[in-house]
Amino acid sequence: MTFSEFNFVAELQEGLDAMGFEKPTPIQEQAIPLILKGKDLIATAQTGTGKTAAFILPVLNQISQSKKKGVKVLIIAPTRELAIQIDQQIQGLAYFLGISSIPIYGGGDGNIWEQQRKALELGAEIVVATPGRLIALLAGGKVKFDALENLILDEADRMLDMGFSDDILTIIEHLPKERQTLLFSATMPAKIRKFSQKILKDPEEISIALGKTAKGVSQYVYHVYDGQKEALVNHILKSQDFQAVIIFCSTKDKVKSLFKTLRKQFQVEAFHADLDQVEREKIMSAFKNKSLKILVATDILSRGIDVDDIEMVINYDTPNDPEDYVHRVGRTARAEKKGKAVTFVNEKDSYKYRNIEQLIGLEIEVLPNPEEIGPGPDLAAGKSGRKANKSGGSSRKGKKGKFKSKPRSGKHANSRQNVEKKEDKRPPEKSPENKFRKRKNIKDS
Ligand code: AMP
Repeated sequence: MTFSEFNFVAELQEGLDAMGFEKPTPIQEQAIPLILKGKDLIATAQTGTGKTAAFILPVLNQISQSKKKGVKVLIIAPTRELAIQIDQQIQGLAYFLGISSIPIYGGGDGNIWEQQRKALELGAEIVVATPGRLIALLAGGKVKFDALENLILDEADRMLDMGFSDDILTIIEHLPKERQTLLFSATMPAKIRKFSQKILKDPEEISIALGKTAKGVSQYVYHVYDGQKEALVNHILKSQDFQAVIIFCSTKDKVKSLFKTLRKQFQVEAFHADLDQVEREKIMSAFKNKSLKILVATDILSRGIDVDDIEMVINYDTPNDPEDYVHRVGRTARAEKKGKAVTFVNEKDSYKYRNIEQLIGLEIEVLPNPEEIGPGPDLAAGKSGRKANKSGGSSRKGKKGKFKSKPRSGKHANSRQNVEKKEDKRPPEKSPENKFRKRKNIKDS
């Protein structure tokens, strides 16, 4: 299938060409025709599948033909990072349509508040907002959504987990009842279904297989004692001249403490909820342009962050929730690229790892610890259907002792949906996003 089959207006097709999108991804193939028909939609899809463009494209096509004045599309997303990222994708795809969009998110100083308030009052055609800030701006009473045609909730499961359910319902009270509503979620627990009944009308439903990690990710695990983790992460970081690595820890205190240790030897930053907006943007911008190569982060960074070419994700702590594993690992090998994910599992966390393997439907290769670190705990014994070998490791322990050892050729990588992505080889200043940013003098995130 090609994008031309959707018969988008010429300027939108031009935006697609400029972004280098050649073929729709599976979620786009399924979602776009339904959205173009005007149906409400519940879609289960993770980041990395092309879900953002799946809702942006048809909605841009629709509003490019609308004569109404004012905010026509409201997209609500859980975090400022995701809101900024969605906005950037809109800027790119809508470049030749001349449609304006504005991200509205918390943090920042009074100037940003003022800019956001003005943009809302003047009626940017598309608003991408986090719930808290939008509620605060709505309280001023001047923001009008009378012209609204589409409401989109992105990462709805996460928004409910973050306690935004009431805020979203309050926002919806300000919107016209006649509208098209689209709900995208990485998971579809009962509470999302219940919630969706309150806001969607006779929705169509689509689902892109969940719980699978991207095809291009080589995944490995090390069995370690807590006291070995620091030495192991050092060993891995020194094994290669990495350009982009994210190390995930379970708490912000752990992030801060590992950051303090690593910064003695590596150029590294910490990313967690205690940072203010300016600090976050500075770090993300350095990481995106590769002047910063290593980030230690909490799960705040595990979803929805679209940074190209992340070579490796290290789970310093095993994620508590198997779905967090999929999201963390999804930071690498985005849109058909290759990446590596390494998880440290201690005795206490081995049950979490079994849950992860169950969810992703893969048995992940155990790498032997490097010699200087020494053997870790024997976690194979507790595995049902898998016997420990005599040397004390899992029966599938990797053969070579070094991290650098050649990974399996991904034969265990599953074949989830293919997201075709042509790498954008144009110099950054020529991309539509940057041209737009220059034109409007908008700071990059
Ligand atoms: P998302 O799942 O929306 O976070 O998208 C993941 C990445 O895939 C983003 O970098 C998009 O720019 C890219 N992408 C989305 N759709 C396509 C497509 N049809 N072809 C190539 N790349 C795409």
